[in-house]
Amino acid sequence: MYNVMSPKAEEFISHEEIIETLAYAKKNKKNLELIEEILKKARLKKGLSHREAAVLLECEINEKNEEIFQLAKEIKEDFYGNRIVMFAPLYLSNYCVNGCVYCPYHLQNTHIARKKLSQDEIRNEVIALQDLGHKRLALEAGEHPTENPIEYILESIETIYSIKHKNGAIRRVNVNIAATSVEDYRKLRDIGIGTYILFQETYNKESYQALHPSGPKSDYAYHTEAMDRAMEGGIDDVGLGVLFGLNLYRYDFVGLLMHAEHLESYKGVGPHTISVPRLRKADDIDPDDFDNGIDDKTFEKIVACLRITVPYTGMIVSTRESQKCRERLLKLGVSQLSGGSKTSVGGYAEPELEEENSQQFDVSDTRTLDEVIDWLISMGHIPSFCTACYREGRTGDRFMSLLKSGQIANCCQPNALMTLKEYLVDYASEETKEKGEQLILKEIEKVPSEKVKAIVKENLVKISQGKRD
Ligand code: SAM
Repeated sequence: MYNVMSPKAEEFISHEEIIETLAYAKKNKKNLELIEEILKKARLKKGLSHREAAVLLECEINEKNEEIFQLAKEIKEDFYGNRIVMFAPLYLSNYCVNGCVYCPYHLQNTHIARKKLSQDEIRNEVIALQDLGHKRLALEAGEHPTENPIEYILESIETIYSIKHKNGAIRRVNVNIAATSVEDYRKLRDIGIGTYILFQETYNKESYQALHPSGPKSDYAYHTEAMDRAMEGGIDDVGLGVLFGLNLYRYDFVGLLMHAEHLESYKGVGPHTISVPRLRKADDIDPDDFDNGIDDKTFEKIVACLRITVPYTGMIVSTRESQKCRERLLKLGVSQLSGGSKTSVGGYAEPELEEENSQQFDVSDTRTLDEVIDWLISMGHIPSFCTACYREGRTGDRFMSLLKSGQIANCCQPNALMTLKEYLVDYASEETKEKGEQLILKEIEKVPSEKVKAIVKENLVKISQGKRD
């Protein structure tokens, strides 16, 4: 990691540069020669600059747009194969002191039940999640200095990692909590979190301030510089995202890429993941009250352009999106999916009463994890519960090197198959199990190294005999 003083938020997310980039992209939206040149560079699969990406996003030449989608698919297959990493969100607390106008957890909202899980309740939630087959969680919490202080988050993570139940254990806890200090990030690193995820919501300072009128989150610079502090605190893997629907998508697309470029140049490693959430209906929130909603076609183009621009960054899509939409996005570059998600506090162990409504937003894909796994397998994807990289210390630049070395087929693919096998034996319905076993038989033959193939075959037998990682 480099030790150079990072520039301030307004320098690395320069409003002037975004405006100039958007004007450049608009001017060149039909410039065949330039678009072909950018696509030629993109085919090298080493990424693009935010300016080049903005031109592709704006491109209005149908034939070139087809090439963009095709290349996104190719890059997805080359870098991630057909593996899809599975996770579930776990909501710890919806107490919040912020005034975010798009989030039902905002302080003024008196309609929703405020809930915070005790350590016993966390235990019940985790057992319920393990019974579904999950191994990887994303912790979610509102921002509240006394209800959800860092000590509460740390204790909760310790509780989660300590639970060994039947064949299950949560092996990676990613954390999505409000921007905090280097000292707190260091505590999160020390306790062994996976990725630290923080959505920027929007990179446009003026819109940001209107959308976050009160509370600690209203400080644009503090929020935007959070990833620098997280990395200073020793967290290698950080996850970026914007909430599409809040602000003009073109602006946030460029801002997101400038943020990624900033992390790469000042911290030596780009973001581990990018999430692409879209605004959803929630308790007192109606997405139609916001003017910047994007349709599915535009959304797909954004995902395809991101895939081409940052090939080494995983892409996450949650159950905010429908089955149909997720199906398209999977082909265009998404590598991680949530499944069987509950966005209420305590929703896994016990279904919530209607009048309580502690949900953060309505989910669109309401299928169970088994249904999602069955669907992925039917489309030829390998649902993966693998967390080996994290456990073996392959995070940050070490993870990126693995990706760049092309050893994924000999490493991630076999691990994915073995964790899928564990899922099939321990948790799957009969139908999913049958389809999954067929998929494993087919996929194992694609492992390039004969030696690795033999080890995997041996391990698969051991898994069916009850051995667990
Ligand atoms: N309190 C932390 C923070 O402020 O960053 C954690 C955030 S919250 C639990 C997770 C994310 O949900 C937010 O960053 C936001 O992007 C998203 N979110 C909030 N309201 C939403 C809505 N109505 N529809 C979809 N996503 C929403």
